[in-house]
Amino acid sequence: MANSRPTKCLVIGAGPVGALAALYAARRGWDVEVYELRGDLRDESTTPLNFTKSINLALSERGINAMRQSGSNGLLETVLSETVPMYGRMIHGKASAQLTEESQQYDVHGRFLRAVDRAILNKVLLDEVEALSNVKLHFNQKLTGADVRKRKAWFEQQASRKPQTADGAQIHQAQDESRSEEIEVDFDVILGCDGAHSSVRYHMMMSVRMNFEQNYIDTLWCEFTIPPVTSTSHRTPSARDGFATSPNHLHIWPQSDKMFIAIPSTDKSFTCTFFAPAADFTSLEKYPDGFLPFFQANFPGVADLVGHAELRKQFHDNPHLPLISIKCAPHHYGSAGVILGDAAHAMVPFYGQGMNAGLEDVRVLFEHLDAQPSNTQGRAKALEAYTAERVPDAHTINDLALANYWEMHAGVTSPLYLFRKKVEEF
Ligand code: FAD
Repeated sequence: MANSRPTKCLVIGAGPVGALAALYAARRGWDVEVYELRGDLRDESTTPLNFTKSINLALSERGINAMRQSGSNGLLETVLSETVPMYGRMIHGKASAQLTEESQQYDVHGRFLRAVDRAILNKVLLDEVEALSNVKLHFNQKLTGADVRKRKAWFEQQASRKPQTADGAQIHQAQDESRSEEIEVDFDVILGCDGAHSSVRYHMMMSVRMNFEQNYIDTLWCEFTIPPVTSTSHRTPSARDGFATSPNHLHIWPQSDKMFIAIPSTDKSFTCTFFAPAADFTSLEKYPDGFLPFFQANFPGVADLVGHAELRKQFHDNPHLPLISIKCAPHHYGSAGVILGDAAHAMVPFYGQGMNAGLEDVRVLFEHLDAQPSNTQGRAKALEAYTAERVPDAHTINDLALANYWEMHAGVTSPLYLFRKKVEEF
């Protein structure tokens, strides 16, 4: 029997995956409520800078296709207009005291990745969602409990305020201090898009025999910025159009157990990430005199591109963050709960597929839902099919992401890789 009222769907988390999931659910005619722990990232007066300022991501066909299939006219065009194409990797090094650059194309047919600012992508998706009359967005609402058997969820309102420091732990503490009373919300289905430390996953586990594996790798990351070129700026030979180095590459400074990467932004800057073992971070904090020599020895040219004083400042000011890898199964409970994105499969970022795979989860989930009748039984079948399809894929991309760490920091300069590349060219 068909439902007489629209399916009531809660989406937890308004990151890229949650926003796209809300869009798909609303286009299906569901009654959608989105609950997000943080403030609205489009409102810079209430949202702290370190929530909106974020890593640049490599957007690939997986993620692009999920937006293409969303049914939102113009969404993809708006997103793509805010991206910079990256046709390959640029490997930076030093030979006989000279800085070197070597371009390695991604694809013989010229296909490419696109650099996108996560915050911009998120804002475009939220604008699209907000325009739909059957979606309600609730910011500063933390999911504190969910019972997928009884189809109830609980939320605590978080007062919006600006944290004083860039330290995630203190931000969390500030939010906890501002707790107010809990509200209870009923649902037909809850979509957990609440990231690696998913509260939906945690509460779903109380009802599901869920296998769960979590690993931290011994690598931390810290963000840096290479500014656009001014007349006095340093630049590499491939610099062009106001960018300090080639705008159409993902730049890598590889080292055996660490690396520095730079991804172009539409404002002609580069968002960079320094990855290294935790012990390197400790030494750099402890021995400031060794800071510049460390960067000059390991990542030739980086200090000049970022600026010597800025390099130190950004290392000091920006958070030093861990990398987590999560596998779990199943990804759903009956017809009532399902997890997507990092909540289901957080992965190390070296394959550039975390968000892309999360966006693809949304497309796959709704393909299964569309193939079933729109009632509880149909939804249960669709969620089961989603787990069956997605779990092996998620585990595989997780493993590939870990394997690609070797490829990016060591493989790109290994004789085997260079030999294989020569053979391919031949
Ligand atoms: P998130 O972005 O984590 O969003 C989850 C949302 O849920 C947040 O807004 C959070 O506030 C909210 N939330 C959390 N708990 C609650 C709660 N209890 N109640 C309500 N709301 C809650 N991916 C790529 O595809 N390409 C890349 O090039 C790439 N590079 C990366 C580089 C780095 C250094 C890192 C760390 C990651 C990278 N990723 C990349 C991965 C990508 O950032 C993530 O996969 C993506 O952000 C996951 O999106 P999400 O919406 O699932 O989760």
